[in-house]
Amino acid sequence: MGGLGVGNILHKNLILLFKWWWRFSESDNTLWKRIIKSVHDIKGDKASMDTFRNIKTGTWSSLTCNEPDIVKVRSILEDGMVLRVGDCSSIQFWHDRWCEAGVLKSIFPRLFAISLQKNSEISHMGEWAGSTWCWKLDWRRPLYDWESEEVRVLHQIIAQNGPKRYREDGLLWKNAEVAAYPTKYIKDKFNESLGSSLPKNILSIVWQKFIPPRAKLTLWLANKEKLKTADYLVEKGIIAPQNAWCPFCRSELESNSHILFTCRFAWRSWMEILKWWGLSASLHSKFPDFSTQWLGLVNVREHKDIWALTLGCVIWSLWYERNKIKFESKTPNLQNFVTSLKIRIGIWAKEIMGSSTYTPNVIYNADTFILQT
Ligand SMILES: [Zn+2]
Repeated sequence: MGGLGVGNILHKNLILLFKWWWRFSESDNTLWKRIIKSVHDIKGDKASMDTFRNIKTGTWSSLTCNEPDIVKVRSILEDGMVLRVGDCSSIQFWHDRWCEAGVLKSIFPRLFAISLQKNSEISHMGEWAGSTWCWKLDWRRPLYDWESEEVRVLHQIIAQNGPKRYREDGLLWKNAEVAAYPTKYIKDKFNESLGSSLPKNILSIVWQKFIPPRAKLTLWLANKEKLKTADYLVEKGIIAPQNAWCPFCRSELESNSHILFTCRFAWRSWMEILKWWGLSASLHSKFPDFSTQWLGLVNVREHKDIWALTLGCVIWSLWYERNKIKFESKTPNLQNFVTSLKIRIGIWAKEIMGSSTYTPNVIYNADTFILQT
């Protein structure tokens, strides 16, 4: 078939269809939007996968399905759309994606469950004291210790992004002057992506699908190299350099790249996981390269999902283990760590994929099971 085949027309229609994604975010309180929201029981006022989760039928459901082409267009769009936080009267605190980190109810499901402001706009979740915005979050009951810790992290995330006075909320396209649906940009990006099988932000798709909500924040920070490791704290003058050793090896300065990849504890853990799968590779030491390379190591279609989940699970577990050692004086033990990793991968797989193919027991014995297929 020539270059002007059916494929092109379908792609064009697809890109036009996604204009609704943009329009939904753009228009406040219009009749059609109120109807869509009520028909599909949508919470949230801005388009995102979280907002449209409930849509199962009709044209709108094709916007949220997992067809490869649709995933590509959607990820280009989600990657470029930016909510400009203004007076916050049209953005819902828990349901809309107004923080770079993601939708807050997905990152903090347990806090969402005890919030007394589940459907509140941001503008109703605090007040102005002079020119300073003061958050006021209300909970159904007193917080447990671990919940207070989560609230602290939540405040860190929202601190930089509070309401701005005398400015309306808006919808922008990243790096563009004009606030309009960028048909041409999406078309070009989409055509670029046809040559490669992985869209640019494959990671965010992986995280959306295969990571339990409670682990998403850590993964997101790791992806941006923003985990608060000792090098950061030294730089900020919070701790002295002599207290900045990596808790695993105690012989090098702790950094994001060190703790997750180059430390011998981390490195040996990755090698054990590769061995478990009958693979070997020399791995990169920076998150984006590392993960792209990792995801490319397994090409059997049935195993790609579990392999993506494994990446997220090892990263999260390394950080979790690091905290246990640092704050609860646990002693590092590679063999125990790897064993608990394999079990955790099984637990996550069961929780997220819900299938009986990957029970914790099957995963634990993966060396036999994977090699047979
Ligand atoms: Zn180390």
